[in-house]
Amino acid sequence: MGQRESKVRVRAHFDYNPENDPYIPCKEAGLAFERGDILHIVSQDDAYWWQARKESERTARAGLIPSRALQERRIIHERTQKEANNQDAKSSCASICTTPPGSPILNSSSSTSSCRGPKIKKIMYDLAENDDFDREMIATYEEVAKLYPRPGIYRPIVLIGAPGVGRNELKRRLSARDPEKFRSPVPYTTRPIRHGEVPGREYIFVSRDKMEADIANAKFIEYGEYKGHLYGTSAESVKSIINAGCVCILSPHYQAIKALRTQQLKPFIIHIKPPEFDILKETRTQSRAKSTFDENNSREFTDEEFQDMIKSAERIDFLYGHFFDEEIINGELATALDKLVNS
Ligand code: 5GP
Repeated sequence: MGQRESKVRVRAHFDYNPENDPYIPCKEAGLAFERGDILHIVSQDDAYWWQARKESERTARAGLIPSRALQERRIIHERTQKEANNQDAKSSCASICTTPPGSPILNSSSSTSSCRGPKIKKIMYDLAENDDFDREMIATYEEVAKLYPRPGIYRPIVLIGAPGVGRNELKRRLSARDPEKFRSPVPYTTRPIRHGEVPGREYIFVSRDKMEADIANAKFIEYGEYKGHLYGTSAESVKSIINAGCVCILSPHYQAIKALRTQQLKPFIIHIKPPEFDILKETRTQSRAKSTFDENNSREFTDEEFQDMIKSAERIDFLYGHFFDEEIINGELATALDKLVNS
């Protein structure tokens, strides 16, 4: 039977080396790849072994890779074994805790812990708590979407980054450079308004009751809790920007990635990273004087905070690196902006 050509492009969410795979029918025929590589699937005729080429090596021969079904089975098998090994440790919690450790916190109020039993009203993730759960949820392959799903319709751009790295400033500058093209929905929050902020400009300030009711009515495409306050992006605001033919730019907390990566939205996700320590320090000190990085511009950063920013970027990379379509180092703001416009 002739092989069917497939036009499917996927992003790998795991590293694969046929040399270390005892089950591959022929090691020489295997294709090694790394997490984040884009693969063109040439044939899916076999249930367990697909044939693929790396996007970066399109003229090379296609090689064998584990199919999605096979890889999923392997992950499930590995997890079952790990869980069996950890069973003793878990049994003390199992009778009262319905979710795995590190999974979204089930809140009956803003301060409920994950093992509190049945008084549960709604599911809400806690931005500070569930990083490791995201890491656990790693998929196998993910279909890569086109940048323009339909003529005149752009995929939204999501700027992810460590707090203080300057993604909000980049977002503002992008909109200022071409306001007809780049637009950002104003996020909602329940936190109190700060000095210098204008309602409807930085945020739409609402009561917790109102925001919780809107969340329950699915009015937010993503939301989260940070330092005791809710933040979120309304679905309607994103929809209207996209339907107006503009590029919608979002810069939520990095944990919003998992909520935003839907088939419907297909966001283009960019990691805004800090440069190395010396450059970070130099550019932030200069720009503070010139008032450019105003995300945290009201005070000076300490060396420790610069280190934290770098560490935080590394952690974001570790947790979500396989979801990023692009990385931009935000050393000098103007250069980063040019790169963003051309990405
Ligand atoms: P701030 O209160 O300092 O303006 O923002 C605090 C945090 O809330 C930041 O880490 C920021 O990324 C996050 N945040 C701001 N807007 C949104 C939003 O629309 N959704 C989510 N999930 N987080 C947001």
